[in-house]
Amino acid sequence: MNVLVLGGTGQARRLADALNERKFVVTSSLAGRVAVPSLPQGDVRIGGFGGVDGLAAWLCRHGTDVVVDATHPFAARMTAHAVAATAVAGVPLLVLRRRGWTAGPGDRWHRVPDAASAAALLPTLGQRVFLSTGRGDLAAFAALDGLWFLLRSVDPPQPPLPARCEVVRGRGPFTADAERELLREHRIDVLVTRDSGGEMTAAKLVAARELGVPVVLLDRPPAPDVPAVGTVEEAVRWLEEARERGAP
Ligand code: NAP
Repeated sequence: MNVLVLGGTGQARRLADALNERKFVVTSSLAGRVAVPSLPQGDVRIGGFGGVDGLAAWLCRHGTDVVVDATHPFAARMTAHAVAATAVAGVPLLVLRRRGWTAGPGDRWHRVPDAASAAALLPTLGQRVFLSTGRGDLAAFAALDGLWFLLRSVDPPQPPLPARCEVVRGRGPFTADAERELLREHRIDVLVTRDSGGEMTAAKLVAARELGVPVVLLDRPPAPDVPAVGTVEEAVRWLEEARERGAP
């Protein structure tokens, strides 16, 4: 069975590795955003497909039997394209999306629908912000001149950036000890992040809880109305069952 895994996440890498071991023919697709990506086993293609039509044509050309959208929960455009292109090409689509986070005792979370809402709320909560939203959302905070920002990203972030900011480079996973130290060292009094879910980047939420730091949490874009699983193991099972059925 020929599987296209739309990747760029740790889950996508682990899925591609697991499927390779189970003799699926896997191609992983990366957007090409990261200069030195961590690569999965099996074939890898890098770069956009050229929209819905480009992806649909790619699926037909390569005889793809199933697509797994294992992109980041906030990669909404790629997910929308996957839904539309698989419908055009008549190929089944499975979404692999880790579960979002839930607040526990001691958490001071403020859920907001998007980056603009987070920027509007921020000045009421703190002055020194750990902004951990990913590069695409930084522009929404660029006009907040009165606040100071700590930014963290794998590759250098592109302007527009907030006027008063410091950039630290880093790729998860991070430990709660390291995150606590980072918050303390920079005297962070509010954290902004997205409801990405997963273990790789959850430590900052633990550190914020322990230090009593409020968190502004950006909600996920709506999930598409297609079959979906939350773990790599569930995705493997779904694909094995599809292979046994001789799907599609
Ligand atoms: P996006 O806004 O949803 O997608 C924008 C365009 O990038 C897509 O239309 C597609 O171009 C291309 N693209 C995205 N993912 C691709 C993939 N896996 N393979 C081939 N082309 C892809 O995506 P994004 O938020 O910029 O994220 C880009 C990549 O980084 C994704 O693979 C995602 O899993 C990963 N990532 C994203 C985040 C995040 O915060 N958004 C965090 C960690 C990792 P065409 O229209 O030309 O096909």
